[in-house]
Parts: sequence; structure tokens; C-alpha cells
Amino acid sequence: MTSVAWTNIGELSTADPSLGEGALGVLRDAAIVAVDGVISWVGPSSSCPAADEAHDMAGRAVLPGFVDAHMHPVFAGDRAAEFDARMTGTPYTAGGIRTTVAATRAASDADLARNAARLAAEAARQGTTTLEAKSGYGLTVRDEQRSLVAARTVTDETTFLGAHVVPVEYADRPDDYVELVCGEMLDACAPHAKWADVFIERGAFDRDQARAILEAARAKGLGLRVHANQLTQGEGVRLGVELGAASVDHCTNLGDEDIEALAGSGTVATLVPGAEFSTRSAYAPARRLWDAGVTVAIASDCNPGSSYTTSMPLMIALAVREMGLSPAQAVWAATAGGAASLRRDDIGVLAPGRRADLIALDAPSHVHLAYRPGVPLVTDVWRSADRLPSAV
Ligand SMILES: [Zn+2]
Repeated sequence: MTSVAWTNIGELSTADPSLGEGALGVLRDAAIVAVDGVISWVGPSSSCPAADEAHDMAGRAVLPGFVDAHMHPVFAGDRAAEFDARMTGTPYTAGGIRTTVAATRAASDADLARNAARLAAEAARQGTTTLEAKSGYGLTVRDEQRSLVAARTVTDETTFLGAHVVPVEYADRPDDYVELVCGEMLDACAPHAKWADVFIERGAFDRDQARAILEAARAKGLGLRVHANQLTQGEGVRLGVELGAASVDHCTNLGDEDIEALAGSGTVATLVPGAEFSTRSAYAPARRLWDAGVTVAIASDCNPGSSYTTSMPLMIALAVREMGLSPAQAVWAATAGGAASLRRDDIGVLAPGRRADLIALDAPSHVHLAYRPGVPLVTDVWRSADRLPSAV
């Protein structure tokens, strides 16, 4: 049994409103103790129990590690040229995915795992202690399966996204591709995945195709997530809610009926402001969702086409500046919200019984994450009380 204490925390954001002030449950002059990687005590620093190992936080802010519930870290190549073109006036279309599909199919298993590990390490240096990783750039039975094997090397939160886009060889017969995804591809991928996801969009998959894929995945025991309402106000959000998806992601174009459906459901709205930032698009209505009582998460959507960033601090800054969340709400969405999106009750909150996944800032308050955008404030990261290599 090993105990670790963090003392003299100037501002502790627990992300549990019942433990302290405001949406983030903030405590001041606080301490945390963990035993064997799990939090056993949270309270005033002055009455902190003794521990085998102690870290004096010297008045800095401590938060839960970020939970990035939407990433696509398994791919090869990059699309800097496409980004450059888009920033000079070419509109974004989903077709750009096909460039990455060709590079991913040509890459070795080792290259795919290496790229995923590089991005996971990059995310960890910025405070991400749990991430979700999707397949979706293979789009053949073999390439989707090996993408998930690569994803498993960086996380247990792996998602089968064979229905990312219809590959070019099926362009004239998309229903045959849907049949492949629901059958042989799902059979090969389900053992390596916790979740299944479908990109519901004009140019990707329609409601009926998505329903067939999601129902087949559910029958195989996978949890459901969807890419919904990104480019157009389609039926993705309502389908996700109807099927009991854990999360509907993007939610950029929503009608009142979509927000009502989400508010009365157990489905989380996972917003990905990096995609809107990098495609120069309007942002999702985060504040409206929050005020309607929807559980909101924010995630990086790290992918080479529309959001090539792993930075949860940047997502927090965008959620505050561009989407109307308060700093406390944005940090909650990046921690407890991400955990809810993954249906996890062991992470995302700093309270007894939760995993000791926490980060320290070179700042006195969580507010600085939005107040000082682009500054590497995360100095220390612990997962299960083990210190990870950090940025500073
Ligand atoms: Zn995505």
C-alpha cells in the first residue's frame, strides 16, 4: 500500500459541485491523499493526513486530468496543404478524409501505433489523462481492425468508426459498404472496440444507414456514439438520443427540437471547438445546451483534416471565448463532462473513490486556462498518482 499526498493546493477544482463552490466545486488551501492510485481523502491542507510521499503544490491550482472523449489519433500523413488551401478560401468538405485513408492503408502497423503514441504523449503533456481513440481511416476489414489494435496501445476507450466515410471503391454502391460495416467488418473489429460511431452527414451516412450500423454494433455489445449535426442540421442528434447513445458529438447545427431531445436524455453533447476553429466555422451553441440542462463535454477531435490539435487547454479557451461557457463550466466539460461522455464514474472528478488523475498549473486558478490562451500552464500531470512526463 502506497499513499501520496498533495498539500498546499491554492485552489482545488474538484469538478463535483457538491464538494465546493460553483460548477467546479472549488476548495481553497486544500489537500488530496491517494492510496494505491485512488483518492482516499480531500480536505483542508491544515488537516491533511500523513502519507508515504508528499508533493507541496505551493499555492498552485490543481484540477482533474482532462478527459478527451473524441480523438482520431490512428492515421498516417498530414493534410497541411489542405489546411493551407482552406485558409486561403477553399471551403471544407468531408471528402478530404480520403487523402488520409490512402496514407493509412499504406502505413505499417508499427507506424500507426507510433503515431497514436506520439499524439497520446503530446496530449498527456498538456494534461489529458484519459483519451478516446477512433478507427476510421482504414475503411477495409483489415485496415479498420489493425487501426483498433493500434488504438488499444494508447487507451481502452477505443471506438470502431468504419462508418466514417464511404470509401472511394464503394462510391457507386454505398449500401454495399454499409452491409460490409454491419457484417464482416464489425465482426473483425468488435473484439478490439468498446464503442461504435457513425458520421451522420450529407456526403457520409444517412439516418437509415446509421441506424442499421448502430443497431448491429449494439447487438455486438458495443456502446454507441455518433458524429451528428456538424455541417448541417440533420437527424443525427435525435437518432443518437433515440438509440441511447452515450454521446452525440459536434452538435454545431441544432434546432430547438434537438436541444429538447438532449435535455431529457442520458446522452452527452460532446462539443469539439477545435473543428470549428480549424475550419473557420460557426461554433456549437454550448451555452444554450448548458442552460437547457444538457450534459456538455468538450473534446479535441484531434484528426489530421479538421482539428489537428491535442490541446484541451485550447478547447477550454475556445469554449469560453467563442461558445459562451464560463471558465468553470468549460473546465467541468473538459473533465467531469468528458467522463460522462465515456460513461465513466472513476475519473474526471477529484473525490474519494476516484482515480488520482490530476494536474497542477503554473497559475493560482483554473480561470488562467482561458485567461492565458496558448500558454503552457500545465506543469505536472499524475495518472493513478503516478507522475507523467510533463511539458515544463
Ligand atoms: Zn471526429
